[in-house]
Amino acid sequence: MTVDPSRIVDGRVDILSLTPEELCDFFLSLNQPKYRATQMFPQLARGVSFAEMTNLPKDLRAMLEERCLFTLPQVEKKLVSQIDGTVKYLFRLYDGACIESVLMRYEHGNSLCISSQVGCRMGCRFCASTIGGKVRDLLPSELLGQIIAAQKDSGERVSNIVMMGIGEPLDNFDNVVRFLQLVNRKEGLCIGYRHISLSTCGLADRIRDLAAIDLPITLSISLHAPTDEQRSAIMPVNRRYPLEALFAACRDYYKTTGRRISFEYTLIAGKNDSEADARALADCLTHAFAGTGAPLHVNLIRVNEVEGTGFVRGTKESVNAFAAYLSKRGIVATVRRRLGADVNAACGQLRRSAAEGKAEV
Ligand code: SAH
Repeated sequence: MTVDPSRIVDGRVDILSLTPEELCDFFLSLNQPKYRATQMFPQLARGVSFAEMTNLPKDLRAMLEERCLFTLPQVEKKLVSQIDGTVKYLFRLYDGACIESVLMRYEHGNSLCISSQVGCRMGCRFCASTIGGKVRDLLPSELLGQIIAAQKDSGERVSNIVMMGIGEPLDNFDNVVRFLQLVNRKEGLCIGYRHISLSTCGLADRIRDLAAIDLPITLSISLHAPTDEQRSAIMPVNRRYPLEALFAACRDYYKTTGRRISFEYTLIAGKNDSEADARALADCLTHAFAGTGAPLHVNLIRVNEVEGTGFVRGTKESVNAFAAYLSKRGIVATVRRRLGADVNAACGQLRRSAAEGKAEV
């Protein structure tokens, strides 16, 4: 069989992870005409099962069932916000692992926040996703599968993707890049790169690798602190890639792609939300990007309190004051609206509750 070994999962071809060209080769290796691949790629992207592909001969469908792995994430639990219609999915994958995706409804269309790994090994102290460590990377098919499953379940099109769910996308680099290229295919889900944003805790080397591929996606950096001392205390990744290394990679990313970078800043009461912190943040960003022409954009969010972390959510006034200070310094600051507050929409919390066997979340 002419399928790249990295596309074989548990002895079966992970068919949804194949590009149209690879799908052609696969069909040729089965002595099937190429046009079958052209027919099938869009069907797979819509989540049509082999059994439903009535345009295929029965024996071919049976052969595909046997040789391929093609299961979409199953809805294990679904919570719908009464406030804003946000839907939080707990999906079960082919091997029983669970991940979360969140469907958010905006005027400009539906956005799906997807997970990139089962668990996470980055260890950010405030984050629920990292508590049990990393279990495994998601396959390109499982990244696509979250979108396909959410579209099937909601009956609505997903037009924007944010990679801000469970996991560190740049720690699953190859699968994530393959996913980005697949989701963009016009024969498939056809989601434009400009409608995709990827959030990272700051793996500087991988940021450069991403720049080298030069996809016009939006990059978000989870910054969360203005000094190395403060950042290392809440984000272990900062010991490997301190602020200067991270900013240097961001400058390269901007230089290569010309894409605006946004910085995520989670406000934690008493830790990083004072006026002195706002000043330190404005100073470090202004200094790091001086002369580059890069527009500076900071997204502020009040921390979601995760049991056991001890981090406390500050007041609305504190976040507004923080935003006002940054604006005064010429930095665009937006306060992120909290969607799905009643469905525990913050990342990782539903999966944890399920893992701990709690009846309700
Ligand atoms: N690993 C990636 C993407 C996943 S987390 C990253 O670190 O960017 C998505 C965003 O939610 C990140 O900015 C992350 O720092 C933030 N986040 C995680 N836990 C949070 C919490 N309890 N409250 C507020 N933001 C949180």
